[in-house]
Amino acid sequence: MAEETVFGKILSGEIPSTEVYSDEEFYAFRDINPGAPTHVLVIPRKPIPKITDATEEDAPLLGRLLLAANRIAEQEGLTEKGFRFVINCGEWGGQTVFHLHLHILGGRPLQWPPG
Ligand code: AMP
Repeated sequence: MAEETVFGKILSGEIPSTEVYSDEEFYAFRDINPGAPTHVLVIPRKPIPKITDATEEDAPLLGRLLLAANRIAEQEGLTEKGFRFVINCGEWGGQTVFHLHLHILGGRPLQWPPG
């Protein structure tokens, strides 16, 4: 069995987090090291290590992940001005936690490209 990640420990309550949203399939919480005034992480409860590990079977989950992230962005007051969704993948993509997560960043103008 794959070693449990910090996000697995957040899901089980072993590590504390600041909840933003929760349902039977997803959990969202504030990033501990925010890169913008609003920085929320949305994770599926299913531990998919990285986006490239998702399968055809995960297609509905991935669709619902985006829709949940839309609702959270709205709840956080980001929709009018705009915001960014980010999924880092692997070492060069900057992924440090190998439990699929979507970053929601907003609350100020964001630079592009991110560097
Ligand atoms: P990534 O680099 O895409 O894998 O993103 C991992 C994110 O998880 C980083 O932005 C970290 O700041 C964040 N992070 C790591 N540990 C925690 C934690 N215990 N609570 C909240 N966010 C965390």
